Amino acid sequence: MRLGLFGGSFDPPHNGHLALCLLARELLGLDRLIISVSKNPFKAPSDAPDDDRAMMARLLAAELNSTGSIVEVSGWELCQPGASYTIDLLRHVGDAHPGAELVLLVGEDSYRQMHSWKSPAEIASLCRIAVFGRSGFSAEGQDSDITLPQALIHEFDMPVSATAVRALIAAGQAVTHLVPQSIAAYIASRGLYH
Ligand code: ATP
Repeated sequence: MRLGLFGGSFDPPHNGHLALCLLARELLGLDRLIISVSKNPFKAPSDAPDDDRAMMARLLAAELNSTGSIVEVSGWELCQPGASYTIDLLRHVGDAHPGAELVLLVGEDSYRQMHSWKSPAEIASLCRIAVFGRSGFSAEGQDSDITLPQALIHEFDMPVSATAVRALIAAGQAVTHLVPQSIAAYIASRGLYH
């Protein structure tokens, strides 16, 4: 079984996440996909509470599952006592699914930071890393001495970020073109990001 793992703060989930998961499912032939909601230790006051982020991640999963049911949401990271790290999540998921071939999905901005993550070499030994291009992000200027784990970079261009979504909402502008309808409705009903 090929099992994809996609972590993020999902604050909120947006069409970039949606498109990335849909592409990954087809391109990588995923049998299952776990969306993991991460802890957000550097929370700004405008950010959504953990329960809301988990709920919106479940709405994202529901959108994805409407075209074939393979996605589930994990709140494992949110339940951990301290900071959560991708390496710990990978070990946890690997233990829970012995024999599964793990594929870690990341945007290129995250991938370029991976040298500063906990145990990058071990991450690469436990899974395949699939990187998706991040619109507006350029690796130019990155220190050429940095060693990043081996990965396959896929072309991808969805110009949307959670930061932009939060800023638009705070400015009283519509985000219906940037997030799935169910998530826009949830954000409005909970009054998030104002
Ligand atoms: P923020 O703007 O708050 O930093 P974000 O839009 O990057 O949030 P996250 O939940 O932090 O969203 O991202 C989770 C993962 O999805 C990361 O690996 C990130 O690189 C990737 N990702 C998010 N949006 C895109 C996008 N538009 N294109 C490619 N990758 C993306």
